[in-house]
Amino acid sequence: MTGADNLAASPARRVPMADPGREYRELRTEIDAAVRRVLDSGRYVLGDAVTRFESAVARRLGVRAGVGVGSGTDALRLALSGLGIGPGDEVVTSPFSFIATATTILDVGATPVFADIDPITLNLDPAAAAEAIGERTVALLPVHLFGQMANLAPFEALAARRGLALVEDAAQAFGARDASGRRAGGIGHAGCFSFYPTKSLAAAGDAGLVVTDDPALADRLERLRNHGRDRSGALAGPGTNSRLDALQAAILEVKLERVDEWAERRRAHAAAYDEVLRAVEGVRPPAVGDGGGHIFHQYTVRADDRDALRARLDAAGIDTGLFYARPLHREPAVQGRCRVAGALDETEHAAREVLSLPVFAHLSEAELERVRGVLVG
Ligand SMILES: *Cc1c(COP(=O)(O)O)cnc(C)c1O
Repeated sequence: MTGADNLAASPARRVPMADPGREYRELRTEIDAAVRRVLDSGRYVLGDAVTRFESAVARRLGVRAGVGVGSGTDALRLALSGLGIGPGDEVVTSPFSFIATATTILDVGATPVFADIDPITLNLDPAAAAEAIGERTVALLPVHLFGQMANLAPFEALAARRGLALVEDAAQAFGARDASGRRAGGIGHAGCFSFYPTKSLAAAGDAGLVVTDDPALADRLERLRNHGRDRSGALAGPGTNSRLDALQAAILEVKLERVDEWAERRRAHAAAYDEVLRAVEGVRPPAVGDGGGHIFHQYTVRADDRDALRARLDAAGIDTGLFYARPLHREPAVQGRCRVAGALDETEHAAREVLSLPVFAHLSEAELERVRGVLVG
């Protein structure tokens, strides 16, 4: 038993929603060596470590390029800019997501348009998105929520038919696949990842990446993240400072080897919860679409009395997450600056019922059993 397991088994200790330090402790030797190599190299911003990681991700996803940036938020913002999206444009997206999905659209001067979600996967409903398209719509931005991919085939068809860009918010879905085995992030014109410390591929700080199969877009992204500098070093156009740190890239390169194994562990935890929830009335396990490619970044149940379930788990020392209690069109930062297309009934319904349970890969057996015990109790 490791030290972490010992601590986790103590009943006085709360069961957390995430504990990134446990990932580090599993890989301490490799990560320490990788970090020391970067420190010794003296190359701390961009450089070989970043290029290697970018290429490894691009290869894995079967696309031409990966461009490392400072965060998932910047991945979205720069992808939208790189695609030429700006003032006067509309982007159709999901109202049931993390705030950055909408604020990055606002950041580039465009308007988020919200269409309702599919009640099974909680992802943007392609039919509702199609209805939401207006004269100013230039892009579709589905989110692969909780590690389960949105059904992209209808979005691809829609984007092709209407001449729209398709951008994937894959911040919660590194490692996820769809029913035909295609990988999250590698399908749209641009795929945006976050490596925030609790995500399925996690840095030791902020980091993000855009992948694309379009070399011209990759070139624009490389300039945008680095003050507009092109490969020759000339200041060739607009830009900002949002570069991936070499230290983060080195850590991410080590963890990339473990992403699939850790997704497998989360799937096992999810199956263990599914099993006990069959006997629990009023609490429904996450409804999984076909394909089995869900990586369970979150394990999100729907409960008739969500607040009571949350209070009961809290009293038993178990942390839970409310993702998301308030849909984006009602967030103060977004309200009044967006367009709401049609009724968002499924979104509102989900926002009242969802509750996320601890499912991270390094959850111990004892912690998992404690949560299962409270669910059936
Ligand atoms: C985490 C997240 C982001 C933002 O990523 P950061 O790295 O935290 O900036 C964007 N979209 C979604 C859906 C996320 O979960």
